[in-house]
Amino acid sequence: MAERLQKVMANAGVASRRASEKLILAGKVKVNGQVIKELGVKVDTDDVIEVNGHLVERENKVYYLFYKPRGVISAASDDKGRKVVTDFFADQAERVYPVGRLDYDTSGLLLMTNDGELANKLMHPRYKVNKTYVAKVKGLVKNEALKRLRTGVDLKDGRKRAKGKAKVLSFDKKNETSIVSLTIHEGRNHQVKNMLQAVGHPVKKLKRETYGFLNLDGLVSGQYRELSRDEVKQLY
Ligand code: URA
Repeated sequence: MAERLQKVMANAGVASRRASEKLILAGKVKVNGQVIKELGVKVDTDDVIEVNGHLVERENKVYYLFYKPRGVISAASDDKGRKVVTDFFADQAERVYPVGRLDYDTSGLLLMTNDGELANKLMHPRYKVNKTYVAKVKGLVKNEALKRLRTGVDLKDGRKRAKGKAKVLSFDKKNETSIVSLTIHEGRNHQVKNMLQAVGHPVKKLKRETYGFLNLDGLVSGQYRELSRDEVKQLY
């Protein structure tokens, strides 16, 4: 991600954004060996910045797509000592944190990053990212229930509906369970579980399969991969 020079300087702790602008205008800042004196310049992560002849150490922004297993807390620590998502990234130089949360017993796609700006943006309700979940639920789900998910169910925090069609992927008639998929773009606490419960089908197992255009292809539970530059660009 190319970012404005003064913003990168501020993020790296050189000075405030305003003070960084003054340093630029005063000709104290070089990018790749060249003095920059105007404020519109954008720099990429691999551009070398010097201020008063000193190299600016920048935090390397990292972005991972993580296949969270069940039985892991979506946080950096847990007061009950349970496994947390950041445990999987302990050998990485950068400290990352999850973008949003999945329940302890939910598996699936979770983004991990140290880019607070992107994390905040993606978590903001205005920025509607479609997320598709696959749930194993109690009971044999009928069209009526699917329709209700689509048109909206009343939960404590308002009326919630699935985006597009909620679908039955398979039935297990012997055990009286169904596998359903549904897409939502909000991420209220336990929203998918609450929606399915509200239409009479308590969730036994839940997995998030997609997040926007991203999916879990090629990963098994507990694994992660770095996002490509292009994928990061698309998320911004
Ligand atoms: N909805 C839920 O109920 N649980 C999750 O973990 C995510 C969405």
